[in-house]
Amino acid sequence: MSNKRASDAPLIRIRRRDTAAVAALGSLVLVLFWLFGELGFLETVVAIATIAALSTFYYLTVSTTINPAVGNQALRARDGDEVDEAQRAKVMLENLPNPVLLIGAGGRIEIANPAAREFLGLEAVTGHLSAVLRQPQVLEAVSAALRGQTVAPVEYSIMAPVESHVRAHVAPLASHRDPSMPWRAMLVLSDETSIKRADRMRADFLANASHELRTPLASLAGFIETLRGHAKDDPDARDRFLAIMFDQTERMQRLINDLLSLSRVEMDEHVPPNGTADLGAIIDDVVDVLRPQISEKSIKLDLQVEPALAIGDRDQLLEVVMNLVENAIKYSGAGSTVEIRLSGHLGRDQAERPGLTLGPEASRLTLAAPASEPGDRFVAVRIRDGGQGIERRNLPRLSERFYRVDGQKSGPREGTGLGLAIVKHIITRHRGGFTVESRPGAGSIFSVFLPMPESSRKNPD
Ligand code: ADP
Repeated sequence: MSNKRASDAPLIRIRRRDTAAVAALGSLVLVLFWLFGELGFLETVVAIATIAALSTFYYLTVSTTINPAVGNQALRARDGDEVDEAQRAKVMLENLPNPVLLIGAGGRIEIANPAAREFLGLEAVTGHLSAVLRQPQVLEAVSAALRGQTVAPVEYSIMAPVESHVRAHVAPLASHRDPSMPWRAMLVLSDETSIKRADRMRADFLANASHELRTPLASLAGFIETLRGHAKDDPDARDRFLAIMFDQTERMQRLINDLLSLSRVEMDEHVPPNGTADLGAIIDDVVDVLRPQISEKSIKLDLQVEPALAIGDRDQLLEVVMNLVENAIKYSGAGSTVEIRLSGHLGRDQAERPGLTLGPEASRLTLAAPASEPGDRFVAVRIRDGGQGIERRNLPRLSERFYRVDGQKSGPREGTGLGLAIVKHIITRHRGGFTVESRPGAGSIFSVFLPMPESSRKNPD
């Protein structure tokens, strides 16, 4: 739109000049005719008056299209609009979250918005692009755009200090107002690291899930084959194999249940729960369900539960406590003690630093941490076992899907490696925290803390 306006101005000037030139030339010719006696004085005056009238008419008809009387003013206003538009474009560029650069002749950076300055670590908008972006493909694309060529987006990766993947869009830009101006290149960088990471995670997840299911399936197929073959008439072997087959089927069932649970949790992770859950009642239910495993391993339970409510979804919080207590039993030796402690009305610091501890040699790690306000109160569940413990180097990977610590004995019910990933997702959805403390040989303490509903808070201490 601004281009049309800009091109109107010379058009008016040309028409005005043409009209005046034609009228002046015609009048001159008539005067010459009069001087050489070819025309009488009156005829000359009438002819000049006619030319003047026709010129004025022509001039006025042009003016109805673009009225120069108003035109001057309008054009001034239009120039003002253009200044405004340029200003607006600049403000937009400055506030754009994507890095955008305008590259001039020779690869000089003319404009770099704040996002671009931060992305490329530019102190000031000066210098050449090649000095801050050492990516030959991008520099080649910019050179091509500076020659007016259209170029396809270019992707590049940086491996250090952190792995990142960037897509660079390069477009040639010409000045519409001044076609003689050289080409410029607009460079827009988009950080696609999280997209790439998500893609890779999805691919890894599918590969892991299929691998986890393939192993028990292959073993089932093998046993069926044996039962049809040489074990057909051996009742002892048949019973033994059927028991193993049953375990494998159960394992597949657990895996599928955990996968479904993980996908359900992930689906509503961005919607925080708004109900309240009685954690004391949840712990009681979990202990009831796990009673057979507890007595099977002669585990001594030490319960210290004070009544406390949390903001949360009861079923999901039951899953959290169930996974943690089940792990405590699974990874503890027979006859050991599992301690479950529930305490409420804790400030953020108290919630994060467990009252229970395994001593100064223990390693601690926060697996999920909420954003919180100073006055927030939390309720914490801590589960301590006297099991094998986990080495420091393994702690950061605990909440990864399918991660299992090598050489960890879990008894007959082999784990899926999904339990702690589910716990982490549920706790993140609840805007809560999740920490682990462990010392090989001494055991582990897994803790989760959740915000308390305002109505059930005591006065802060
Ligand atoms: P799994 O189904 O294998 O138990 P989890 O995600 O619950 O999966 O746990 C991941 C891994 O963390 C386990 O395989 C185990 O190696 C380790 N782990 C979890 N809880 C404990 C614990 N209480 N003591 C020792 N190691 C544990």
